[in-house]
Formats: sequence, C-alpha cells, structure tokens
Amino acid sequence: MKFLKVRTFFVVLGIIMLFLLVLIIAESNSINESLNLDAKILSSQMEYSMLKTQTVSKYNYSNYNISVLFNFSIEKAVLGFKGTMIERISFRGLTSSKPIWIEVHIPDKIHFHPIYYSHIEPREIFCYKERCLLLFNPLSENGSLIFAYSFKLIDQNSNVPFNDPSYKFFGNEKVALPLGLTFIGINSAATSGEVSFLLFKAPWEDTKAFLLVNQTLTSLIVGKEKIVPTPQDNQFLLFAGRFGEIEGSAMNGTKIKIYYPSDEPFEISPQEVLNWSKKVISTYVSTYSILPSKEYYIINWNSGEANGNGFINGIIVGRWSARGRLIDRLNKRLIAHELAHSWFGGYANFGLLDEALATFSDLYVENKFGEDTYPFAENKALNSGKVPLAEITKNVPDYQNALYYKGAFVFRSLQFVLGNETFFNGLRELLRECHGKECNLTDVQNVFEKVSGQDLDWFFKEWFYSSKVPDYDVRSLSLEEKNGKYLLTFEVIDKNNFTMPLEVEVITSKEKLVKKVWIKGKARVSFELNDKPLKIILDPNEWMVNENKEYTTEGIKITVE
Ligand SMILES: [Zn+2]
Repeated sequence: MKFLKVRTFFVVLGIIMLFLLVLIIAESNSINESLNLDAKILSSQMEYSMLKTQTVSKYNYSNYNISVLFNFSIEKAVLGFKGTMIERISFRGLTSSKPIWIEVHIPDKIHFHPIYYSHIEPREIFCYKERCLLLFNPLSENGSLIFAYSFKLIDQNSNVPFNDPSYKFFGNEKVALPLGLTFIGINSAATSGEVSFLLFKAPWEDTKAFLLVNQTLTSLIVGKEKIVPTPQDNQFLLFAGRFGEIEGSAMNGTKIKIYYPSDEPFEISPQEVLNWSKKVISTYVSTYSILPSKEYYIINWNSGEANGNGFINGIIVGRWSARGRLIDRLNKRLIAHELAHSWFGGYANFGLLDEALATFSDLYVENKFGEDTYPFAENKALNSGKVPLAEITKNVPDYQNALYYKGAFVFRSLQFVLGNETFFNGLRELLRECHGKECNLTDVQNVFEKVSGQDLDWFFKEWFYSSKVPDYDVRSLSLEEKNGKYLLTFEVIDKNNFTMPLEVEVITSKEKLVKKVWIKGKARVSFELNDKPLKIILDPNEWMVNENKEYTTEGIKITVE
C-alpha cells in the first residue's frame, strides 16, 4: 500500500512536470521575441508627422486606431505593490502583406516594458519624444503583441513640476499619480479577419475595463479574451481602471451606469452625475424620438488630457479644463455634449457637423434646465475666424469655435426661421435618414427642405458658405405723440445684407413689446406705445450670431444682443 502511494505520487508529479514543460514550450513558442524601443529618434514633431504621413500614403492604410486609457492609482500600487498591467492583442486572418502599423504614446511616467511579439517581425520604428510609430510585417495569418506597463513611482523630492496637471500628489505617501493618457494606435489594412483583446494581468482583481469598437462600448473581463471583427474605418479603445459604480434609469427604462474613480480624490458627487445624465438622456429621447441605446455607461476619470469622448452607448469624461485647471463641480455642458454624440456621431453620422449638432443639443438641454449659456456660446462664435463653415475640413483648435459654437448657433437660427415643430421634425428625419451612414451638408439641406417644403438655399449660403454674420443698426428714429399714445418708427439696417427674421423688443416704463420682423438688408419697424420708449433690444432671445453692440440714440438705449 505504502509503495503504491509513493509510486502514484511520482506518477502524478511526473504528469505535472510534463504538463508544466509543455506549458513552458507553448509559452516560449508563442512569445519568441521581445523588442526594446531602440528606434530611430527624430528631432521634431514635424519630422515625425511627415514620416507618419508618408508611411500612411505609401501603404494606403484605412484610418483606425487602438487607444488604451488607464485609471489606476499609484497610491494603491505602493501599498499593494501590484502596479503592472499586461495585455495581449492578437490578429487573426491577416491576409495582406502590408505591415501592421502601431502607434504608441506612453507618457514618461508610465514605464513601458519591451513589447513581446509572435509571428510578426519588426520592420521600422521611429519615435519623437513619447510617441513612436512601429511597423511589423505579418509572418503568418495570425500574430500577436504583448504590452506590459508598470507605473513609475515619483518621489515628491524629484523634479516633477507642481503645475503639471497630469500629476497629483499625496502628502503622506510622497508619490505622484500619473494621470496621463496612454494610447496605442493600430492602423492596418493587413487585418481583414478578427482582432482579440486579452487583459491578462491587472493591478487589482476588481479592475473594470471597457473596449470600444465601432462606437460601442462593451465591458472587458480581466482574464477573458474578447474577439471582435476588424473594424473597417473606426477605432478601438481600451479603458481600464478601478471604479466605484452607481446606477439608475432614464425615460423609457434606459439604464444608466455611472463609474467614478474609487481610490483617488474625486470631488464630484456621482449621484449628481447620475441625476444630470437622467435629465439629459430623457430630454434627447423625447426631443429626437430615437433611443440609440438601452444602456449608457458614464465613465468619469481624473484625466490630464483628452477631456471627453462620446460614443453610441456611453461617454468618458475627464476633469481638466482647457486651461489645465481641475474642475471640481459637475461639468453639465461636457456631459450633455458627449451624450449628444450618441445621436450625432453614433446613431447617425454627419462628419464634422457632428460637433455643431452635439453643441446645439448641449446648449438646448442646458438652457431648458435653467442655465443661460447662449451669450457665452455667441461670444465663442463671434471669435471663430474668417473661414466659412462649409470650407472647414479638420477638427483642429483653430477651427473649433466655428465648428462647435458657430455651427450650433446656425442650427439654432434655423430653428428660429422654421419654427419649433418643423425644425425638430427636420432633425428627427435627419437622424432617421442618416442612421448607419455619413451624411454631408447637402444631405442636411435636402432633409430640411423636404420637411419644410421650402427652398433654403439662401439660408445655407448665408450661414455655411460665408463667414459673415449680420451687423444690425437702428436708424432714422421718429417718435410721434397723439392722444397720450406714442408711435415709434425706425429702420433696422444690416450692413452685411442678410435675409433673416429678427426679434425687435421695445421697453417703456409701462410695457415690453416684441415683434418678429423679416430684415432683407433693411426693414422699417413701428410700435404703438403707452409711454416714451426707453430701450430697443435687437435679438433679445439670442436666436443668431450677430455683431453685439450698445449705444444711445435720441435718448433711447439701443442694445444688439
Ligand atoms: Zn463633440
């Protein structure tokens, strides 16, 4: 009996050893090479961009990329000493001989281990600062890459600039938290089959991860592989971190899940985020009569860079303002804007006009719930440069005031011209017609013309194909008194010769009268009043972008809003 037991023990041990050996061989087969980033180092961003453009045109890549965002706290990494994350990206069914292009952006604060690869070989690598472009040749139908990241600890005594928003200090721990954005871009026409993602090591067991493919977020479970078809013209994004979670529901039973950093300072109330998200989603659902998703993920993080992203079923919003300040209150506009992309950009696609329509939506919902943000938006639109909206081809900072704010205001002006019922019918028809495809400005004009039964060429010419805005003035003012009544007559002229309806308001000590007048370059307006006029306001409800001014003529205050 005793002998048998010992023999069984050795047999079992032998089997285990054999199994381990097979595992080691399998592992060394699948991960046979590693690569340190000893690349061609370029001396300027311009050189890098030029080389990248050359590479893209040489291999005729379609445009998509993979991004990875982290939300791990170094503070916990110190205590738990588990600061590494490893992920694997595998390609299946590589049919083209074109190289796989991978763009990596790793902030200096995150330590990046060598990349391990199998069945592909490096061909060319060039870098500028934290960004590298890597090209790999596929060697067989399937290949994979393994990335490992660990977080570099930074002592408060080291030279971390205190005003760098991507670091956060913890007094007691004396470490800095890297809040930077890390992304890996993959742009390859070589993959016609599938791509799989595997997050097989995360710093914490309760790590939550999300994968974005074709505008849709899905959750990714640590240790479980996710296989997705290669998107043709869209991006991947992997977002991982430690989050707290609360949930609720909006109109029509739409589920809303709020995620927020659970072990870092996060001063915004998750409940407030939930309440506002409910209002926004319910407003969009009832205004646009379309529900793009039954479930929304609202992911909040302490971002040092990209501030917000909106997808068909969720948003990722950061906390840093454009000026590098930490926003410690609910950012209503950002949440409303990114959620609007579920309709404009997710459900239906309008190219660069997505930003105009999403900004139109965020201003609409904010003002519906009592915020007065049109004067702010008009001011941005007035500083939007001299390029007509229809001629803008890139979403870059120089054009953003035009794309977001002037664009949004033009839709608001169209609402004023057509009236609420026709305008919102038009927007609903636009979403139905452009669902699952990309529409352009001509398609937008056609839909509004069809729904309104009007020729709108004049409107689109004025607002999209010219960078001018109306410049109104009040002239030739006359006031007649008769039996205690006053007849006020004046001319409104527009130096830029637009054809637009305009609200004209007159205020006396006794009343406040508003008329909607069509101005075609100019128009004569008259009001019958019970007292002398004190003030004339043009565009008091901010229906359009126009030159704003204030002056006094014949004792009457003139304000052009
Ligand atoms: Zn946007």
